[in-house]
Amino acid sequence: YYRRSWSSESSDSVISSESGSNCYRVVLIGEHGVGKSSLANIFAGGHDSIDSDCEVLGEDTYERTLMVDGESATIILIDMWDNKCEGEWIRDHCMQVGDAYLIVYSITDRASFEKASELRIQLRRARQKEDIPIILVGNKSDLVRCREVSVAEGRACAVVFDCKFIETSAAVQHNVKELFEGIVRQVRLRRDSKEK
Ligand code: GDP
Ligand code: MG
Repeated sequence: YYRRSWSSESSDSVISSESGSNCYRVVLIGEHGVGKSSLANIFAGGHDSIDSDCEVLGEDTYERTLMVDGESATIILIDMWDNKCEGEWIRDHCMQVGDAYLIVYSITDRASFEKASELRIQLRRARQKEDIPIILVGNKSDLVRCREVSVAEGRACAVVFDCKFIETSAAVQHNVKELFEGIVRQVRLRRDSKEK
């Protein structure tokens, strides 16, 4: 009630503030061993370049507020994909709850790259008609001599699947900050185009 009277001048701003437009659930998916939890740990760990406190909401859920392009955004990062003890339902759950997805493969493991394509298709099927922000993430870019998937292949795959692409290294913390900023920008792009 308070909020309504407070922003009565613009009905649009009521809608966007009430839908919690600055808080995004970002879900990590991808083959076991590609580095999802390592990326999540950097997000949770509060190293220098991501300068705010992280709240651990559960064993595999982390919350952090970032400043991106002068505007704050809260990411709830969900790393439950490999949680087998909870059963298969957890994967269906993951496919439903994300506002955005990071589909991770390892550049040293071609099978994980192929799996990423499969997951992209599954996601599209699970969330038909929704334009969900996705970043295809080629992790372990530090392992230069074990590379099985080229940068060009990763990029081409992202074009086919209509999503963004980045290579990261959780081990040397390369492009990890850029990854989380990137997903915030992707969500915002869609939000802003909806408002117009
Ligand atoms: P998850 O199963 O997808 O959660 O993968 P983990 O985060 O548990 O990582 C699996 C293994 O890969 C661990 O031994 C990590 O230390 C290692 N790892 C993860 N990211 C990187 C990376 O960027 N570079 C290297 N060299 N190793 C990594
Ligand atoms: Mg893990």
